[in-house]
Amino acid sequence: QGSRVFHPEDTVIETAHSLIGGDNFTMMAGPCSVESLAHVRKMAAVAKQGGATVLRGGAFKPRTSPYSFQGLGEPGLKFLRQAADEFGMDVLTEVMDEDHVEMVGKYTDIFQIGARNMQNFSLLKAVGKTNIPVMLKRGMSATVDDILNAAEYIAAGGNEQIMIAERGIRTFDNKYTRNTLDVGSVPVLQKLSHYPVIVDPSHAAGHTEFVTREALAGVAIGASGLVVEIHDDPAHAFSDGAQALKPDEFQAMADKAFAIRSLV
Ligand code: PEP
Ligand code: MN
Repeated sequence: QGSRVFHPEDTVIETAHSLIGGDNFTMMAGPCSVESLAHVRKMAAVAKQGGATVLRGGAFKPRTSPYSFQGLGEPGLKFLRQAADEFGMDVLTEVMDEDHVEMVGKYTDIFQIGARNMQNFSLLKAVGKTNIPVMLKRGMSATVDDILNAAEYIAAGGNEQIMIAERGIRTFDNKYTRNTLDVGSVPVLQKLSHYPVIVDPSHAAGHTEFVTREALAGVAIGASGLVVEIHDDPAHAFSDGAQALKPDEFQAMADKAFAIRSLV
């Protein structure tokens, strides 16, 4: 179902405030974690100002360590929803557990399946039975065929509103970057499938100083959108502060991204 062979046209996903895929370019931004209502509102204002139509934020966090902040849970989803509604944006948030699909679905416009859950087949099947769009993030050790097959698990349930996110993979040298942004996978994924391909430069770069240029590389190679982490006080962020763009950095990146997009 995901293959171009049987479905030559691009999939265009329509949400309340966004068109994703085809000739559209979609900016998505927000904090790694929802921290409080006041904070997520502030970040929504920054995201909106930069041209984002989708507000991202995690309330259920797949942290590497069980002792790290795990997210605010359902109260966090309420804050995220409220902030997005106030600014006329869509919500993108991670669902980690098939038992949470129904509950998270009450608040979100787009489910995020995180890299660590890319092959959680029961979770994929569960979101595949909903009619809510899904952003499927590439696992850190997943091949192109692995992620296309994972997307197929969602589509097989009837939900073909899928976007694929390249967020960097593990390579032999991730000393200076958190992961290696596989920019070359973007046109490959677009050739093989009709789903929108989104680039996440934040989890690839891992360090703020490299995020903008990886983002722009993603735009230049033809991604349908970007998903970027932002924070006004990265040193005190609940998660992923080291890779957050500050408001002025996000604005500058977004301006360049839209300018480059108009050329490709
Ligand atoms: C995130 O988006 O904050 C996240 C945890 O992403 P990934 O699954 O790509 O690591
Ligand atoms: Mn993050």
